[in-house]
Amino acid sequence: MANKAIKYRLYPTTEQSIMFAKTFGCCRKVYNLMLSDKLEAYKSTGKFPMVTPAKYKTEYPFLKEVDSLALANVQLNLQAAFRNCFSRDRKKKNGFPKFKSAKHSRRSYTTNNQHGTVSLSDKSIRLPKIGAVKAVIHRRPGDEWHIKSATVSQESDGKYYASVLFEFADPVNTYVADMTNAIGLDYASDGLYVDSNGSIGSNHKYYRESQKKLAKAQRRLSRKQGSLKNETKSNNYMKQLRKVNRIHRHIANQRLDNLHKKSTEIANQYDVVCVESLNMKSMSNKGFGNGKATLDNGYGMFLSMLEYKLSDRNKYLIKADKWFPSSQICHCCGTLHPEMKDLHIRTIRCGCGLTMNRDQNAAINILTEGLRMLAEKA
Ligand SMILES: [Zn+2]
Repeated sequence: MANKAIKYRLYPTTEQSIMFAKTFGCCRKVYNLMLSDKLEAYKSTGKFPMVTPAKYKTEYPFLKEVDSLALANVQLNLQAAFRNCFSRDRKKKNGFPKFKSAKHSRRSYTTNNQHGTVSLSDKSIRLPKIGAVKAVIHRRPGDEWHIKSATVSQESDGKYYASVLFEFADPVNTYVADMTNAIGLDYASDGLYVDSNGSIGSNHKYYRESQKKLAKAQRRLSRKQGSLKNETKSNNYMKQLRKVNRIHRHIANQRLDNLHKKSTEIANQYDVVCVESLNMKSMSNKGFGNGKATLDNGYGMFLSMLEYKLSDRNKYLIKADKWFPSSQICHCCGTLHPEMKDLHIRTIRCGCGLTMNRDQNAAINILTEGLRMLAEKA
């Protein structure tokens, strides 16, 4: 079985958003109660006992008003947090579970689908205790997809989302890749990549515009009362902060959209994609002191999208060694040009007659090296 989550924007009524707020609050309350009971018990017994949300429903009757599965999931989360905290697996290892504050904790809860309690229609998503919430169903699930759970959240900009987790049988893909349908990509610090045909994959064009908007909003924020440390945050400050957060989110969405678009295009068009396995740390120093553009353009994320999209299609992503001097070799005759180490030289000129943009020459070398590696594997 395979899983896929799709995140939908929700438009709750006032009543529904009140219920969401109640549920977020109850989840936080139960989490804190369970954590504190565990800690108390540890003091006397030396063990962290199992605690369940049901225990608190008499003392706090408002807990009965909200989705009980949301509370059950809080229990599971807390148990997982304890497990991870004491895990020997370094990757999973986490800090000790902390209490959740009303101001800073994430506003979200997860509920499970029990025989249709969570369902999708054309313009809404049905949730337990909430009813049908107006939603933009920008993507329909497949016919045989089954809903497992839904996570409702409210982002820092105030918008509501439901991330719906679907389960479905793994489709069998019988496509056989055409090894001659190949392309090489070289990372470009001022865009996204240059391919072996000389095409430039750039970041979205609205990026600079959004950046300007963000800078302006941040300047405004810095003039509101509350921007200084220890200063009481005024209502106007909070209002402006929400604006800044909204722009941040917008930029992040634009960037992600663009990376998805570009990676899907390439994965649809080519069967073999050769790239340089890049060390992101060294990469942010590569270039002309424009570390900002480098870190912002999300090349690493782009590569991981390419990897799974190609693999979904039975196609190949080949990573050439990062020490392979792709930008210094003339792709025509193989002469090494150490002068190309200087990133300011944008064009490679070789005695054999080649004159070419440095990135395209590098992309062709990456393609050749990738195909060589692929042939070696086969
Ligand atoms: Zn040459």
